Amino acid sequence: MLLIKNGRVLDPVSKTDAAMDVLLDGERIKEVGPAGEIGAPAGAQVFDAKGLIVAPGFIDLHAHLREPGQESSETIETGTKAAARGGFTAVCCMPNTKPVNDNASVTRFILDRAKATGSVRVWPIGAASLGSKGEAISEIAGMKEAGIVAVSDDGKPIATAKLARQVMDYCRSLDLPVIEHSEDVSLAAGAVMREGVSSTRLGLRGMPAVTEAVCVARDVQLAELTGARLHVAHLSAKASLDQVRWAKSRGLRVTCEVTPHHFTLIDEDVTYDSRFKMNPPLAAREDRAALLEGLADGTVDAIATDHAPHEPALKEVEFDRAPFGILGFETALALALEQLVHSGKVSLMRMVELFTSGPARVLGIQRQIAAGQPADLTVFSADRAWTYSVDESPSKSRNSPFDRRKFKGGPVATIVAGCTSNRIGT
Ligand SMILES: [Zn+2]
Repeated sequence: MLLIKNGRVLDPVSKTDAAMDVLLDGERIKEVGPAGEIGAPAGAQVFDAKGLIVAPGFIDLHAHLREPGQESSETIETGTKAAARGGFTAVCCMPNTKPVNDNASVTRFILDRAKATGSVRVWPIGAASLGSKGEAISEIAGMKEAGIVAVSDDGKPIATAKLARQVMDYCRSLDLPVIEHSEDVSLAAGAVMREGVSSTRLGLRGMPAVTEAVCVARDVQLAELTGARLHVAHLSAKASLDQVRWAKSRGLRVTCEVTPHHFTLIDEDVTYDSRFKMNPPLAAREDRAALLEGLADGTVDAIATDHAPHEPALKEVEFDRAPFGILGFETALALALEQLVHSGKVSLMRMVELFTSGPARVLGIQRQIAAGQPADLTVFSADRAWTYSVDESPSKSRNSPFDRRKFKGGPVATIVAGCTSNRIGT
């Protein structure tokens, strides 16, 4: 048993914001009560969380753990260690591994590795099409039975509207969300950043904002046609957010996520340094303003990291040749505190929602701090000063544009199924 006492419990589902004690018994929450009212049972560990925030376990809807197949960049062991350091108790891993997670045996492999080596829960996402090639639908029912929580061809969009319709029809009957990497590949071809003044100045090929919005529009129409649950991954542009807003106003089951790097950085920040290369690329100033608005007003459902490790040898090349993607787990909470909360744009409660009940809702589950719920908790500080150093990361990769950034507030302890998976000194 573990008693977490004197923490400020923030629970978006019950709207609790109070000093509370939380008693964990094995894998479940046993009791929640006002601070000082729950005595520690004999033999229980006690964690004094005074001055800290106790939240439901953070869920990351979008991560790349690279195993199987690209273990020189990340493994389930190293990736989930980094996730635990970032305060995440569960991560959804994208299927673009080698081989692609497009059948139940790969799904089972990932879950077995997670059980044997993982520090946090791993919830696999299955490929929408075989090999994510966009030609034929994958073995979705078999993968669901094995344990996938959603489908996606992430890395690229589901290739055609016809196939996307078929996948949505199928997933509707299985009640699985379809997570879309929204991109019109003909508009994106050859581009390495967002099209605009900055891409012209740098002499790099850019893709226009509508590269994303064109695909979101297609999928929103298909979600209406099929009644499927559509989740737009790493939404970066105002035009795409407008599409999601429209879909929600029509009562469609459309949700979206935004990454910390898209609400923190913009195309003007891009240099020839490949740590600023990701897909979708960093957007324009007015896009970031729209994302911040959507994060505040409820249009955005979740903050997701798109943690995309690449071993140094792959990333330390010319901007044009480098793969897309950056690390995300360990800086997500601190960037959210910096950009959303300390800036006064979003309440602390709403930020916690974006990391917990928001992503849970996308997956069709509920997460809150209440008796009987899984004993997954994220304990964090909103004001502790610290500096992120990528060299200290358990990740195998080093591709973060936030190395050496000074933060105010960040994760302190990550508790998964009643066990402390990570504890950073307070
Ligand atoms: Zn993607």
